[in-house]
Amino acid sequence: MKIKFLGATRQVTGSSYFLDGGGVKILVDCGLFQERDYFHRNWEDFPVPPDQIRYLLLTHVHLDHCGLVPKLVKEGFAGDILLTPASKELFPIVVLDSARMQEEDVAFKKERHDREGRKGSYPEMPLYTIQDAEKCFPLLKDVPYEEFLPLSDQVKVCFHDAGHILGSAMIEIVVQDENGPRNIIFSGDIGQWDKPLLGNPSVFDRADYVVMESTYGDRNHGSSQDIDDKLCKVVNDTVKAGGNVLIPTFAVERAQELLYHFNRLARADRIPYVVTFLDSPMAVEITKVFEQCKKYFDKETQELFKDGQSPFNFPSLKLVESVEASKAINPIKESAIIMAGSGMITGGRIKHHLVKEITRPESTLLFVGYQAVGTLGRQILDGVSPVRILGQSYPVRMKIEKIDGFSAHADMNDLQRWLSSFKSPPKHVFLIHGEEKSILSLEDYLHSKGGWEVSAPIYMEEYDL
Ligand SMILES: [Zn+2]
Repeated sequence: MKIKFLGATRQVTGSSYFLDGGGVKILVDCGLFQERDYFHRNWEDFPVPPDQIRYLLLTHVHLDHCGLVPKLVKEGFAGDILLTPASKELFPIVVLDSARMQEEDVAFKKERHDREGRKGSYPEMPLYTIQDAEKCFPLLKDVPYEEFLPLSDQVKVCFHDAGHILGSAMIEIVVQDENGPRNIIFSGDIGQWDKPLLGNPSVFDRADYVVMESTYGDRNHGSSQDIDDKLCKVVNDTVKAGGNVLIPTFAVERAQELLYHFNRLARADRIPYVVTFLDSPMAVEITKVFEQCKKYFDKETQELFKDGQSPFNFPSLKLVESVEASKAINPIKESAIIMAGSGMITGGRIKHHLVKEITRPESTLLFVGYQAVGTLGRQILDGVSPVRILGQSYPVRMKIEKIDGFSAHADMNDLQRWLSSFKSPPKHVFLIHGEEKSILSLEDYLHSKGGWEVSAPIYMEEYDL
């Protein structure tokens, strides 16, 4: 069995790993590259001819793990896309939104470039269209957690709960060939322990090979109590100043998680019932899926549903679906909370809101998710000013705040805890999905434990398993 690393190598986005052996060719994840320096890879031919791949296994439906699937299908992949039942519900919503967002962004960019008489660095067309995205749906096959499914005579796969977002999985592949049995565990994105909504990440006693994410390999998040305190402070201070709170959100999970917190805080009278716009066409659909998928949440959340209430809804919540309704959001008179995508301000409606708010010192831009190097979100977080938004330069005058503990990702302690579950060191650990310093920190940790073989593959590197 060979493994080839096709993305998220010493950077965070574009997760994709190709396995060849045991009579079958498998791709694990097919993610979009979202860091500016790697955008070009989205446009290049796939390193492996898509029509030769038999199975695509998806860990979860974040775009950096599944955002290139429609392109893979468009370019010839016709095998099965295996994913968990909740991911199967979420996947169509997520990729349709991605296609729509790309179509909108391209139209906007083209208009601007035409006006300015210049050309952009990439083709002025979406990577894939809504029709392309729809062609993926017949290929989706759901696999329940904790059940082994044969992929060939010699290879089988099992999905384990990753506790990262609804439907997220760690993928275990077992190979039984002339070299004996081996298992490979793809951690996917690892969630946090004891977090609201989801169960804890799965852990393993043993593995031969581990392909492990390292996003927060070098730092820890704040505690959950800090999240509530910080949210209250940001909302109350901004309302007092007469501004708006703008939150770039990942539409899946983070948006619902915020709703859950705002709902709880308002009920406890810690914040007022501020008009809250969830400005994403996915919002209603995703909330429906969350309600259908009650059984995948932790016990406490299931209890909340039992009272006949949705933990994701409250009276001052406004769900915004159409572009017209989005443009009409202009809450200058009364303070509002506005949540919109994309989560790293790489595209989507958040940019249009930001244009209105960025020069208002009374408003706050609140980051609640990871901001990859090279994204507009990261620039602003790093204090860059002025910044370029939708082709124009703006000084950053609004307040910038961030809450780390919201992350759906394990932090340094969690990653070390996950590794500690292995009773003996695997033959090899491959560290992926992290910036260099995070990877180095995890590498150091594993070396300090003694007996662990670790490497951080580079793009297109191949290993024998
Ligand atoms: Zn993720």
